[in-house]
Amino acid sequence: MTRLAVVDRDYCKPDKCSLECIRFCPVNRTRKVKAIDLSEDRSHSVIFEDKCIGCGICVKKCPFNAISIVNVPDELEKQLVHRYGENMFKLYGLPVPKTGGVLGIIGKNGAGKTTSIKILSGQLKPNLGDYSSDPDWDRVVKAFKGSELQTYFSRIANNELKSVVKPQYIEAARRVLKGSVGDLLSKADERGLFKDVVDKLNLKNLLDRSVSELSGGELQKFLVAAVLLKNADAYFFDEPCSYLDVRERVRVADAIREFTNPSKNYVVVVEHDLMILDYISDNIVVIYGEPGVYGIASKPYGVRAGINHYLNGYLPAENMRIRPEAVRFRIQVAEKRFEESEYPVVKWERMIHQYPSSGFKLVVEEGEAYPGEVLGILGPNGVGKSTFIKLLSGELKPVEGSVLISVEKVSVKPQELSPKIFAEETVSQALRNASTEALNPASWLYNELVRKLRLNRMLDRRIEELSGGELQKVAVAVSLARDADLYLLDEPSAYLDVEERIVVARVIRRIIEEKKKTAVVVEHDLMLQNYISDKIVVFTGKPSVEGYASRTLSIREGFNTLLMNLSITVRKDSETGRPRINKPGSVLDREQKARGEYYIP
Ligand code: ADP
Ligand code: ADP
Ligand code: SF4
Repeated sequence: MTRLAVVDRDYCKPDKCSLECIRFCPVNRTRKVKAIDLSEDRSHSVIFEDKCIGCGICVKKCPFNAISIVNVPDELEKQLVHRYGENMFKLYGLPVPKTGGVLGIIGKNGAGKTTSIKILSGQLKPNLGDYSSDPDWDRVVKAFKGSELQTYFSRIANNELKSVVKPQYIEAARRVLKGSVGDLLSKADERGLFKDVVDKLNLKNLLDRSVSELSGGELQKFLVAAVLLKNADAYFFDEPCSYLDVRERVRVADAIREFTNPSKNYVVVVEHDLMILDYISDNIVVIYGEPGVYGIASKPYGVRAGINHYLNGYLPAENMRIRPEAVRFRIQVAEKRFEESEYPVVKWERMIHQYPSSGFKLVVEEGEAYPGEVLGILGPNGVGKSTFIKLLSGELKPVEGSVLISVEKVSVKPQELSPKIFAEETVSQALRNASTEALNPASWLYNELVRKLRLNRMLDRRIEELSGGELQKVAVAVSLARDADLYLLDEPSAYLDVEERIVVARVIRRIIEEKKKTAVVVEHDLMLQNYISDKIVVFTGKPSVEGYASRTLSIREGFNTLLMNLSITVRKDSETGRPRINKPGSVLDREQKARGEYYIP
């Protein structure tokens, strides 16, 4: 076995502990050699993997959980592709892009998906574990001799493979890119496809807008369009669906397949919305391992099998269990029954609202929500979801109709993530300001929010240093910790991996049930929305012009209504029960449409 020691430099703070890792290490205590010491600049601990005996004492002693020690088989070491540096993350193997189909990548956050994309797109030269010197391309090409990656890397080495990447985090683009959508897209257009791509992604109305003014969803589509317009041999899309509604997700998936020419070019997509990943990919590579410590790329599987193996937690070709238990989404389509005696938290009759200044008009059908109930919202952005919540809280008065039981306090988790949504500097300050109970380890709130969402490690961290996924979990926790009658969570899944999505869904449900309040959750990952919500309100309309909110519907009615509007049918996978989009025009698609059963017949 090979020893692998990782010290997370974001967490290791030698000036804030008593150097327990160094003092208690049994190798250090022999006083002959050292297995662990401070770095020269005293900013973090350094573990000498050849001296360390792997006892794990430092792992337990570190008050910040900054150290991980694992043993990996020597065989695996032969597949080492990259190590960022001393005591840093190791990536073993790589997903092998192939022409002839779209390759989907799935795996936990921190397992090495973005690292793989950086390497395959030529942004990061793989060092084969030798981080002390600049690796030369000959060595890299030789290391992959006999595999399909040998030719791939020779092309990169000779500048014969042009790649283009849609990055995972899109927020930075808004600061960096200057100019209008139309100008920037025409500059990007190396293929003469400007009109086709703009039409397909429905970007026509945005051409005159400055990139700095785009909403999250608009920015996402703009970046996907810019990538599609480039003339490249390899196209990479790192999470192309965040901030998009269901129609736009399908549109982006269709556009990627239509414009990248997967029969000739390499096309790779990382995505955690499994229904979309399933729809877009032909093959799947699972990246597994221990997040932040090491990642291993699996062999390619067919799309259905690959996603099912991932959910089942077992990879047959590798004979590898990647999770002790299978992940199952509760696909329930029956309506939850509430006791007659229970009083709704909020109840409204048919209402009409119009903003005099913009003219935007919203019609809301009647509805109600009970204590402990999660109301799922489906539909596009810009058709009045926030307006609806403002009506429920009495902040806005409708022109017609009224709210019969209104809520007083509303706590909001906004869709777009930025450290700016917090006034506080650190995670613990933000949680403490939301609720004094949130940081009390004896409280149920702490158990749900801090333990289950795994925020323990992050409490001392500065909010502006968090990754997108970490920021999302903190934002959800802070909004749920607050005292309120109604919780509005707008796209809580963005930047979370599949396992984290399920944990967040469970936490939302538990907190709402325990507090006996109501949550309104806007979520476009349908598999997840089915898991979170008890009832559905479907929003339709023309963004910025008019909106229509249905009455509160059962899950089946709600999903059926949405999918019928989109003309998409969804079946249930026989093995895992997960929802799968039918191919348009297929036998199942036609049969389900004829029967009016758009969602899981
Ligand atoms: P994923 O895309 O699967 O979430 P990444 O490839 O982004 O994972 O990161 C895998 C691990 O590599 C993370 O734990 C991260 O901390 C580490 N890592 C990423 N970039 C760097 C870097 N430039 N230097 C050191 N470590 C890095
Ligand atoms: P959503 O939450 O679904 O994105 P909103 O309810 O925020 O939608 O807004 C719907 C539309 O109402 C927006 O496109 C905007 O044009 C208009 N709008 C929102 N707030 C105001 C306001 N205070 N004054 C005038 N128009 C507004
Ligand atoms: Fe020392 Fe044990 Fe930590 Fe290795 S695992 S550095 S031997 S305390």
